[in-house]
Amino acid sequence: MSLKVLKFGGSSVGSAEALRRAATIVRDELPQGGLVVVSALRGTTDGILEACAAAGRGDLASAQAVLSALRARHQDVATELGHFPAVEVPWEALFTRLDQFLTGMAMLGEATARARDGALAVGETLSAHLAAQCFNGSFRDVREVMKTDARFGKARPLLSHIREAAAPWRAELAQGPLWVTQGFLGSSPEGVTTTLGRGGSDTSATLLGEALDAEEVQIWTDVDGVLSADPSLVKEARPIPQMSLSEAEALSAFGAKVLHADSLAPGGRGGFRLVVANTHRPSASRTVILPIPPERPAGSVTSVAYKEGIYLLRFPASAGLEPPMEAARRLEEAGALRFGLISSPAGTLLAVRPETHAAAEVLGTLAASGLACEAGWAVIALVGEGLRADPLAALRHLGELGQEPVGGLLTGSSTVSLAFLVQESRLSSLIPRLHSRCVLGY
Ligand code: ADP
Ligand code: ASP
Ligand code: MG
Repeated sequence: MSLKVLKFGGSSVGSAEALRRAATIVRDELPQGGLVVVSALRGTTDGILEACAAAGRGDLASAQAVLSALRARHQDVATELGHFPAVEVPWEALFTRLDQFLTGMAMLGEATARARDGALAVGETLSAHLAAQCFNGSFRDVREVMKTDARFGKARPLLSHIREAAAPWRAELAQGPLWVTQGFLGSSPEGVTTTLGRGGSDTSATLLGEALDAEEVQIWTDVDGVLSADPSLVKEARPIPQMSLSEAEALSAFGAKVLHADSLAPGGRGGFRLVVANTHRPSASRTVILPIPPERPAGSVTSVAYKEGIYLLRFPASAGLEPPMEAARRLEEAGALRFGLISSPAGTLLAVRPETHAAAEVLGTLAASGLACEAGWAVIALVGEGLRADPLAALRHLGELGQEPVGGLLTGSSTVSLAFLVQESRLSSLIPRLHSRCVLGY
């Protein structure tokens, strides 16, 4: 039997109303059973991180106030849906566990990455239990299958271990049950809970799709598919009905939050269809991501992506290549994303975004050692299959920026994108301008 995996993000399970809508979608899409991956209820992950930070400062009272608010909100949603008695027992154990994590952090005066991941797992597991009730399915713990290394905060999946651990799931899912599981979580070789990085439940869904030989993975979110720009900056952003895997890969790598940066690679390997749709408007347009590129006019841009919070590290030419390479290695190992490493006779530029506390600490150490380290940068990427046929078009589009200061060009190996660095403060004016010229104006 062909398997479908559906993933619902935080806003799709953020309220009783949203969960009811998600339940209708599950009924329509999975009449013969399948796998549903859910994120924590909207705002829960931020709440737990806030509680961990307070506990780590020794402020247990503030941490517990956040915990009480989370408990009340979850109970309200479950009560409104009529599922509170059913989830009460598993939830009680989870809230107790979160309380123990916070108390431990407050006693130590430190929220370690490992303890934080353990605390975050509570949010994802609470919502998976509730969603299992709402969808009339059974809860299964994703940590049985999602094997990762032990880089807490941004763990890397161990593909062969995942495939092996997924064998019983493949066999049982073939019988047609409806299962609901958590996104974002994994377990280390020692069996300790890990997380895949913020927004990582898209990646959970696609990794599960790959390991379970799914035919289709659907990402249900709060927009009508992948759009031509971030709708929070560009009101005119329009849905993209079909896009290539390369376009989606470049967009997510350069920051389009709708798909987690690591979520496309499993589709490339697994060959399943990837669909992005809107839980709040299921019959609206949606995006289908395919291995075969759709026809695009030469030189056209399909979408504009950006990511803020980037740091530039500048190494003098006299330093040679070894120190920047070593810095890049240390930062990435700690969980930073590298957006560029550009070397020329004039020196080397390393553009990174720390995604974990550990990476921010490494960055702090490098800056303290006297290295030039500038905050406040962003990367913008123009992405489109049309650039494959006419790569110079991207440079012409860039020319449209006129006198805007550009910190550097990042070409990399992608033939469907051109990215460049700009001051973060310029994003809100540049993105709409680029969108209207490069996407709409084409
Ligand atoms: P979820 O909670 O469902 O995972 P996210 O907030 O992680 O949802 O991702 C969806 C959000 O991504 C949208 O609400 C939108 O603000 C943002 N976004 C940024 N760029 C794009 C884009 N190109 N297309 C669609 N959404 C985008
Ligand atoms: N709940 C996690 C987060 O907020 C994972 C996800 O939503 O994808 O980052
Ligand atoms: Mg997301």
